[in-house]
Amino acid sequence: ANARRFFVGGNWKMNYSQAILEKVNDALGKTKDAEADIVCAPPALFIKDFVSSKPSHVQVAAQNCYHAKEGAFTGEISPEMLKEAGCTWVILGHSERRTLFNEDDEFLKKKIDYVLNKTDINVIACIGETLQERESGKTNEVVERQVKAYQEKIANNQYDRIVIAYEPVWAIGTGKVATPQQAQEVHDHLRKFIEKNTNGDIAKKVRIIYGGSVTGASCKELAQQADIDGFLVGGASLKPEFEQICKARQ
Ligand code: PEP
Repeated sequence: ANARRFFVGGNWKMNYSQAILEKVNDALGKTKDAEADIVCAPPALFIKDFVSSKPSHVQVAAQNCYHAKEGAFTGEISPEMLKEAGCTWVILGHSERRTLFNEDDEFLKKKIDYVLNKTDINVIACIGETLQERESGKTNEVVERQVKAYQEKIANNQYDRIVIAYEPVWAIGTGKVATPQQAQEVHDHLRKFIEKNTNGDIAKKVRIIYGGSVTGASCKELAQQADIDGFLVGGASLKPEFEQICKARQ
């Protein structure tokens, strides 16, 4: 255990129905005394439905945003609009955005820069290596490059507004969770890398969460690792076991 407050994000991806909303709110209703920041990210169109039905201790994230306030950007949504709808967080650089929608580090730099410097929205900044990159021994190199891109736009006094989500691509939505040791090894490496680019105080305080097939069954052991400060959860964030995941540290 450590002094960093536990953080659990629920990424609903492109999933929504009235039944899902009710089931998730049921689970969230039992997390009031969980010692964790709990942040759920419904599809943008349904953010307001969630905002008006969720328990008050739960915060709301968007799954993506654009790096401008308004204008001729067909299909995009601004951080200002998300804030108006009730979001206090945004997920940036999810592997599905990187892979399926060609978002690269340069583009993500513009987004994190805009969100941190033009709004007061907080950022869940995602990174992670592919299976091929891991198998060719490039994990550290890849996550360093991805974190460095974000760090170019994060001022030292903004680290309390970001959470780094380490999500190995091979573990997302595959049912193949990283072992606690595999995850801890990368988190430890990332914390040292962040220290090198900032300072020891920031590195000690910044939250690094793990994502990739986390379930009620796997969350406890992962949560015991020294440098794992919480989770970003996809599939299981829509299920009753999300309650256990929110309480993984208890
Ligand atoms: C995610 O989408 O961030 C994720 C980790 O998904 P899953 O938990 O389903 O692997």
